[in-house]
Amino acid sequence: MPEAKSKIRMKNPIVEMDGDEMTRVMWQMVKDRLLLPHVELKTEYYALGLRRRDETDDQITIDAANATMKHRVAVKCATITPDAGRVKEYGLKKQWKSPNGTIRAMLDGTVFRCPIITPRIKPAVRGWRKPIVIGRHAYGDVYRNVEMFIPEPGKVELVYTPRDSDQEKRVVVHDFATPGVVMGMYNLVDSITSFARACFAYALEHHIDMMFSCKDTISKVYHAQFRLIFRDVFEREFRTRFEKAGITYTFTLIDDAVARIMKSEGGLLWACRNYDGDVFSDMVASAFGSLAMMTSDLISPHGYFEYEAAHGTVQRHYYQHLKGEKTSTNCMALIYAWTGALAKRGELDGLPELGEFAAKVEQAAIGTVESGVMTKDLVPYADPPPERFAYTEEFLEAIAANLEKSL
Ligand code: NAP
Ligand code: MG
Repeated sequence: MPEAKSKIRMKNPIVEMDGDEMTRVMWQMVKDRLLLPHVELKTEYYALGLRRRDETDDQITIDAANATMKHRVAVKCATITPDAGRVKEYGLKKQWKSPNGTIRAMLDGTVFRCPIITPRIKPAVRGWRKPIVIGRHAYGDVYRNVEMFIPEPGKVELVYTPRDSDQEKRVVVHDFATPGVVMGMYNLVDSITSFARACFAYALEHHIDMMFSCKDTISKVYHAQFRLIFRDVFEREFRTRFEKAGITYTFTLIDDAVARIMKSEGGLLWACRNYDGDVFSDMVASAFGSLAMMTSDLISPHGYFEYEAAHGTVQRHYYQHLKGEKTSTNCMALIYAWTGALAKRGELDGLPELGEFAAKVEQAAIGTVESGVMTKDLVPYADPPPERFAYTEEFLEAIAANLEKSL
């Protein structure tokens, strides 16, 4: 019998945030089949599933974010953000906030969404050959707004009351003659600055061009502030390094950016304001094949890293699973969340074997799709198409077998 290979030892732990529904089911499968046989996995475990968040009054989410600040590397499973339906379904004490929102705010991070590219899966946009990474500003704007329904005629104003002077400023938003709606939102120079810095740093690290876009021709103060901050951070801190690396930074209007992206071959970072990033990351993900082929890395300027899949808990598949039916759920992005965290842990701890292992897991996963074993979501994009789709377990077993061959 061949001698059993010794498992890779870790130095420091990865903060492990477990989640909900189908992704929780696959989370365990990925660990059992791909990681635990080969790595002495050292994690600090937080069950961020909805029940546990409810039991702890969401303290568990805060604990997990604090642990990430301590250990610097985290991997997160998808979690339910409860809506009214979930409050009923789970009998919740209240409609808890999005754990991702809480964690992002605590880590002050920027989220980078990067498609997983494999030659057999053809993007809907034919010209795209390399990843289009979306950097989403994960703070403020419409996600921290206040809003009002205006039921009757009346005037709405924006009022600024300085803390230390009486130089109050007012502008009329609208003098309503008929019912309407109004919204106020904000952002912070510090947050925009660290967002810009995170994006430039990401582009440098991954050696890709970068584009930032907004609508400063219409929003001459709010959007323009973003453009100016990006320009200043670039000029002061990054221009020389970009030139040396032979990569470029371009600012352009958001509508022009969309047109350029459609015609590009990919291979760039597109820095987006919060709402744009929310929308375009889903567009880019689905055009690259499937939401399950998109990872989401949270990188904080303080040196914290959190890795997850971009998709949610895949509720529909979970209900099928609960009924005892087989599902064809794609674990690709969950796998990449783990490999991202393992590689970063290895880099920070000076353990190259951890990064090499992570790369082999990714190669095994890509190789599986290339060999024609893939979940249903990928089939419409596959060229050549496979003879049949694989069920969740089959797909994972094929990856595990490929991995074992390569080790
Ligand atoms: P979702 O879980 O991303 O799933 C939407 C649909 O996309 C699925 O029904 C499925 O399509 C397809 N899909 C997504 N991931 C897939 C995978 N791995 N393999 C195969 N198909 C996949 O979004 P949702 O249904 O809108 O949200 C479900 C829950 O997730 C919600 O409670 C939401 O709060 C939460 N959520 C969490 C996060 C996070 O933690 N990061 C992000 C988004 C949403 P078909 O049904 O057509 O097969
Ligand atoms: Mg979205």
